Amino acid sequence: MRRLPSPLIDFRTALSEAISGVGDATVRANYQAQFADPNDVAIETEFQASAQTAMLYSLPRIASDDGDLVVYGNLRKSALTKLYTQYFVPKGKPARQLYDRLKLTANGKCPLCGDIGHVRTLDHYIPKANFPLYSVMPGNLIPCCRDCNTEKLDAFSATLDGQTLHPYFDDEKFFDEQWVAARVIPSGPPVIEYYISPPDYWSPAEKSRVAAHFLEYDLAERFGVEAGADLSETIDTRRTTLRDFSPVEYAEYLREKSVNMSLPVNNWRRVMFSCLASDEWFCSHPH
Ligand SMILES: [Zn+2]
Repeated sequence: MRRLPSPLIDFRTALSEAISGVGDATVRANYQAQFADPNDVAIETEFQASAQTAMLYSLPRIASDDGDLVVYGNLRKSALTKLYTQYFVPKGKPARQLYDRLKLTANGKCPLCGDIGHVRTLDHYIPKANFPLYSVMPGNLIPCCRDCNTEKLDAFSATLDGQTLHPYFDDEKFFDEQWVAARVIPSGPPVIEYYISPPDYWSPAEKSRVAAHFLEYDLAERFGVEAGADLSETIDTRRTTLRDFSPVEYAEYLREKSVNMSLPVNNWRRVMFSCLASDEWFCSHPH
């Protein structure tokens, strides 16, 4: 849920670097022949236009049980997915430098879970198994952490509403406006529970999309785990260094903490401190 600048690498560059790593001269020449036509520019234009309007779900999809179909020119699904698995990812292949550059654009923090995890891999926003033509499309390759990569379902949504957020192309509102919320469960020890609360004026589809993102990446659970660890430290501080603060002073301290860290609006820690600051029970009750 952090915005990333869209990649500066274009599809033609990604393709030609991947193809240049094909060892067998006949196979390499065939790839080159299939992508010789400037049509590959149209493939990228169509991808980007679809991504900007949240229409990627509607691109031609190959069902898992369709087998190894011919997808583009004479290239089968397997030949297109290999462009990524065998000629883009492996260390030592010329395209590997593009893979590494794409990973670096996130500055090490995963944009999908809002900075919980460290970037370890690239994730296909639309899966290469169903959309093999986009296996090395830079705009389809999102740096992410291992947990987000594992949580992600193999089947990409078949509807607009079910699509997760795209850090390169989606509307700014998903990144700039708050839709992650939390509440304090007054128990001993207190627990933070996360849920979604998108702005009222958002369209039903926009609200559904953040719900899909929250669910697919298991963010309620993962944010809760992070908050649990942080909360015990916060309570310790209240008991010791901040023991003389009144509830109002303490609430003010928590509120400042939520904004002073200059975290994105939907970051779990920022949401946690702002929720604690507004919770009268938490601020006045000795835990
Ligand atoms: Zn992540």
